[in-house]
Amino acid sequence: MASLIPTSQSCRELLTELELLQPTVRQSVRSITLSRSMMWSDEAGNHLRPALHLAAVLLDWKELEAITIAMPEDLTAGQKETGDHDYWSWTLHRRLLAAFTQGRWQEIRLVHPTTYTDPNIFLYHNIKYVEEWILPLEPQRLLGIRRSHYWNTLDAGSHRQPASRERVNQDCEHIWAERGIVIQAENPGPGEMGTVLAVRWRAPWIREYRQAATTFPIPKPPSLIPWQLLSSIEVPPFLQLLPQWRVALCREHGDCFTQDDLGHHLIHHHGATEDESTDVCFSSPIQELAKTWKDVVHPQHRITAIPCLQVIDGYQCTDIFCQFRTATMTSWISHCRKTGHSSFEMKKSRMFCQTLSSCPTNVRYFAVYPLDDFSFPLADDQKNIKDLRRLQGSEDACG
Ligand SMILES: [Zn+2]
Ligand SMILES: [Zn+2]
Repeated sequence: MASLIPTSQSCRELLTELELLQPTVRQSVRSITLSRSMMWSDEAGNHLRPALHLAAVLLDWKELEAITIAMPEDLTAGQKETGDHDYWSWTLHRRLLAAFTQGRWQEIRLVHPTTYTDPNIFLYHNIKYVEEWILPLEPQRLLGIRRSHYWNTLDAGSHRQPASRERVNQDCEHIWAERGIVIQAENPGPGEMGTVLAVRWRAPWIREYRQAATTFPIPKPPSLIPWQLLSSIEVPPFLQLLPQWRVALCREHGDCFTQDDLGHHLIHHHGATEDESTDVCFSSPIQELAKTWKDVVHPQHRITAIPCLQVIDGYQCTDIFCQFRTATMTSWISHCRKTGHSSFEMKKSRMFCQTLSSCPTNVRYFAVYPLDDFSFPLADDQKNIKDLRRLQGSEDACG
C-alpha cells in the first residue's frame, strides 16, 4: 500500500500540498498520515474552515483506503498529563471517523505520542471519542453501563467485588466485535510513533455490507456553497424542508429553523450575505414554513429518527396522561418526585429522543427509533455471508 507521509505542518498547507500532487502519484496513494501539528487548534492553518475543507477532500479521494491520524496523550493510559487535550482540534477526527461507520475506510490508525503498557485498550480515555463517532447509540449505551459499573465497584464506599480489568476490557471488545469492528494495539509503522490503535472491519464482507447499506454524502465546507447559483425558487443544498413539522432542517448543523430564525443562521454559519439570506428566506418553499416557533408542529408519537438531528439517550414519563420528556436523569427524577408519576421505573422510562431545535427556549423532545443500528453475528463468517445474502434477498423481494 503506497502511503503518503506529508511534510505539511497544518491543514491549510496540506491542502496546497495535495493540490500540487501529480495525478499518477495521487492515484497510487492508498493511505495518508495526518500529523500532530495538524491538530493544534491554536494554529491559524488549522481553524475550522481549513480542517473541514481538508476532511472533505480526503473523503472525496477515491483511492484512499486508510488514514493515520494523531491522537492526544491518553488521559488514562498516559503516564503524565501533557495538556494535549486543552488545545486539541477534533474536527478531522469527527468527520473522518464518522465516515468509517459507512465503510469508507478499510482502516483508521490512531497514533499516540508515547508507548503505553496497559493492554486494556477499551478502557482508554480516547476510545470514548472513537466510540461516539463510530458506533450506533445502543452499543454506546452498553459500553457506558459496563464501564461505569466497573468504576463504581472501585469506589472506596462500594460493597461489591470489582470485576477484573481484563474481564471488563473483554466485554467491551465483544460489544465492538458484534458491530463488526476490531481495535488492536500495534507497533508504530513508518511516520508513526508510540501506541497505535488500529481500527478495522472484522472482515471485508462486513465493510462491503455497510457500504451497501449507507449512501455516502460528502459534507461540503461552507466556503464551497455556490450561493450565486441558487435561484429564488431553490433552497441551498444543505437545507431540507420538513413540511409536516413546518421547519427547515440544516443538515450541516443538525438544527431546524423557522422563517424568522433562518436568515440569522445563513449569515452567521454559512457565510451568506444579507441579500443572499433574504433571497432564500423569501423563496416560496421557505414561505410555506412556520413563521415562528409558536406555529411549529412538534412530533407527538414515536417516529423514525430524523436524519442529521442528534439522537439523545433520554427519559419519558410512563404515566399515560403525561407528556413529560427530558434529556437528563436529574430532571426526570425531579419530575417523578414532584408528580408521583413513573415511580422511578428506570427501564421503561429510557427512550431515544430528538428535538427539532436545540435552542433552549424551543427544545421539545419526542421519542424516536434510532436510524442506523447495525450488528453482525459473531459465529462462523462463511455461514454469515449466506445468512446475509438470504436476508438481502428477502429484503429485495419485499421491495
Ligand atoms: Zn447550518
Ligand atoms: Zn409525568
